[in-house]
Amino acid sequence: MERFVRVVVIGGGNMGAGVLYHLAREGWTDCVLIEKAELTSGATWHAAGLVSRMIGAHALGLIHDYAVDFYKRIEAETGQSVSWHNCGSLRVGSTPPLYTVDTSIRPSFHSLRLTAHLRERTDAD
Ligand SMILES: Cc1cc2nc3c(=O)[nH]c(=O)nc-3n(C[C@H](O)[C@H](O)[C@H](O)COP(=O)(O)OP(=O)(O)OC[C@H]3O[C@@H](n4cnc5c(N)ncnc54)[C@H](O)[C@@H]3O)c2cc1C
Repeated sequence: MERFVRVVVIGGGNMGAGVLYHLAREGWTDCVLIEKAELTSGATWHAAGLVSRMIGAHALGLIHDYAVDFYKRIEAETGQSVSWHNCGSLRVGSTPPLYTVDTSIRPSFHSLRLTAHLRERTDAD
């Protein structure tokens, strides 16, 4: 290993691997990633793999928004399959009014210029 590197990324989960990928993409070559166990063996290993744009926080929404577009193109860019399945999201609420939808998710959606529709139970029948 080089004695000096510009960046040391600690942890090879989704975040660490993502940071290293984006640094490399920007042309940074003197970077290392240190993982104490196996790559992606932390929380990333347990994740169900849901990447939804439907998220109730603006900053996190921006990250998810980027991720959805990113996963769409990374397969073509790297030749590495990431098993990306693009589909919509459905949130089911059991108690009216759907507080989180109205106060949190909907404003966040609007600011990201995404479309969300509130459906009544009768719509599903
Ligand atoms: C059951 C479950 C389901 C989930 N489902 C989803 C989902 O559907 N969608 C979603 O977006 N998110 C989901 N999440 C959340 C998501 O998994 C985490 O937010 C994400 O994986 C965190 O990534 P990370 O890289 O920060 O952490 P991690 O994946 O935990 O990576 C950290 C890495 O750092 C290493 N490490 C720690 N300390 C050191 C050290 N000192 N030196 C070297 N290496 C070190 C660890 O070994 C590990 O590999 C889920 C989480 C769980 C637990």
